[in-house]
Amino acid sequence: MKKQSFKFSNSSTDLYFSASISHLKEIIDLKNVIFITDENVYNAHSNKFKKNKVIILKPGEAFKIQATIDSIVQQLIELEADRKTFLVGVGGGVITDITGFVASIYMRGIKFGFVPTTLLALVDASIGGKNGIDIGLYKNIVGVTKQPAFILHDLSFLKTLPEAEWKNGFAEIIKHACIKDLAMFKQLQQHTLSFYMTHKKETDLLIQRNARIKIKVVQQDEFEQGERKKLNFGHTLGHALENQYELMHGQAVAIGMTYASHIAAELTGFRKTAAIVQTLELYGLPTYLTFDKEKVFDILKMDKKREKRDINFILLQQIGKGIIVSIPLEELQQIINSIL
Ligand code: ADP
Ligand code: ZN
Repeated sequence: MKKQSFKFSNSSTDLYFSASISHLKEIIDLKNVIFITDENVYNAHSNKFKKNKVIILKPGEAFKIQATIDSIVQQLIELEADRKTFLVGVGGGVITDITGFVASIYMRGIKFGFVPTTLLALVDASIGGKNGIDIGLYKNIVGVTKQPAFILHDLSFLKTLPEAEWKNGFAEIIKHACIKDLAMFKQLQQHTLSFYMTHKKETDLLIQRNARIKIKVVQQDEFEQGERKKLNFGHTLGHALENQYELMHGQAVAIGMTYASHIAAELTGFRKTAAIVQTLELYGLPTYLTFDKEKVFDILKMDKKREKRDINFILLQQIGKGIIVSIPLEELQQIINSIL
């Protein structure tokens, strides 16, 4: 186990890399802990929860809703949770989002920490303090920015992670490489999905490297005024596609990154689209998709990143260097129509 503390604007988070959930007792008093997890994680790893208090949710984004929050609050009351109670979310991004949110509002805020169990949550979702829920079609429309007290990595959970979820996580890893880390991109080009699924040590190092990339960006810009926007590489178009074509998040982001590379080729002279496409393919991710440009563009127009008639789009100057570019919507539409 390797502990490292990271400071944010008004709090700090302890990261426990290469750890085990059994180390929790050295970090917090288990008497005060209530775990929040989902059925898949619980069923596959019930032994790890021992005799502790656990709230078990139905899995999936569809349950990241207010009704789930109400039900958790009800259970917390029944379990006599008070201000000393520590909520620990054990699961993927849905569980960490819900745990951070409910902990921030229960009794006006109690402490919380995460044990991320998906690759995506390890490298992305558990980090950065964005916690929230969906209302209707509006994703993460309600929530808080609050950093967890700790994040503990127990990679033994990954033994049961389905391959599709590994691919999801690699979309964000490739994203990090594209915007911040050329050396890591080269390393990814030399390996494959199945290599990492079977090589614990290398995967642990890769996860740590990605967690650090995300943490550093969030430390620089916790409230997304500038630098943090770069983490949206592939996501603007990706989100528009995700809603419309029922893609997994990673698939949508992979397609979004492919098209963002083409847009960058037009606007910044970026020349490495082929390398990005090849790397996405190495990790089982889709790249091109025939989609309804009109419809997708209608959704883009509503994007949160839009400012009046321009949209903040993340492009690459080169691999490892993401940049924020404000593009007039009409120009973006023209480019999309010309290249796709
Ligand atoms: P995210 O992809 O944002 O991390 P989720 O929290 O929805 O999203 O997790 C994705 C799916 O993987 C869910 O169905 C969840 O129950 C399941 N899951 C999470 N961790 C594991 C694990 N270690 N082993 C098996 N399934 C898992
Ligand atoms: Zn993402």
